[in-house]
Amino acid sequence: MKKVRIDLFSDTMTRPSAGMRAAMAAAEVGDEQLREDPTVNRLVEKVSELLGKEDAVFLPSGSMCNQIAMRVHCQPGDEIICEATSHVRNFEGGGASAISGASIYSLDGENGIFTADQMEAAVRPLENHFPVSRLVTIEQTANMGGGTVWPLETIEEVCQRAAKFGLARHMDGARLMNAVVASGIPAATYCDCFDSVWVDFSKGLGAPVGAALAGSKDFINKAWRFKHQFGGAMRQSGIIAAAALYSIEHNIERLAEDHSNAVLLAEGLANIEGISVQTPETNLIFLDISELGVSSEQFNERLMTHDIRTCVTGKTQMRAVTHLDVSTPQIKEAITAFQKVAQAYRQ
Ligand SMILES: *Cc1c(COP(=O)(O)O)cnc(C)c1O
Repeated sequence: MKKVRIDLFSDTMTRPSAGMRAAMAAAEVGDEQLREDPTVNRLVEKVSELLGKEDAVFLPSGSMCNQIAMRVHCQPGDEIICEATSHVRNFEGGGASAISGASIYSLDGENGIFTADQMEAAVRPLENHFPVSRLVTIEQTANMGGGTVWPLETIEEVCQRAAKFGLARHMDGARLMNAVVASGIPAATYCDCFDSVWVDFSKGLGAPVGAALAGSKDFINKAWRFKHQFGGAMRQSGIIAAAALYSIEHNIERLAEDHSNAVLLAEGLANIEGISVQTPETNLIFLDISELGVSSEQFNERLMTHDIRTCVTGKTQMRAVTHLDVSTPQIKEAITAFQKVAQAYRQ
């Protein structure tokens, strides 16, 4: 496939920088399964501290963090409460049912965010006809909700109410650091009322691979068993943990640039006749081009002739994502290309 020059498809499109590659090449390594990889051990300590949890475990992907967390919290016949657009429900191959035997109760939130009252209404009575409500999970930021930031008060209300009903609490923090940078609220504060939380290194933080799941010592001991069972226990994984460490040390504060680029892009696109834009809170921008009378598939293909790509998320919807491999001049270039493509369809 031809390489796209301005790739707004996702923040997973970042490539490791020279500095990150140097850190990977220089990484001290050992056998991760024996807990003898010093770089992985350092990463795990750093993540525990960052998220304010007793312990953490390094995993190959964010999806595995979600799947292991659900597997620890749930048993067959249990039910997980989450938002309708969430990753655990839609984009993990039905893993909750396949791996944990759990059903999903989905809530229609606003921009990916639901209320404690909505959650409470979903909790099942303890009676043999019903699945057992076991776990509530939220996404910070809410990806398909628009990269929206869950307000801390809403999180605390949901957690407190969940505790009242004996539900475990899990946070999918694929883009938690974007929420932290956008709000100025520390990661540990967001994580405080959750039993399990994770961060992705391969999204906006710019590492090539990896995520880390955090929680109590007891939770992480259980998670380690499933890390082995799922085939996610690695060996000299310090090579990739070094990239994750580098991403924490160098690429968190700079997420602010992605957020300002997102505002720049959203404003530029909102000025184009026929394109409507959801105001971004972080680095994800959702567009609707229904007024242009063309599908997002076709529009995106036309954009590709300008060496630019977005992600098609619906018949006339698309998502554009800013990240560390897209510069401000390139955002301006992208706006011009969108103008040209929209103009061509308006005629
Ligand atoms: C990307 C993403 C995941 C999965 O992460 P991977 O590292 O790609 O497996 C989970 N949740 C959300 C909200 C995501 O955006």
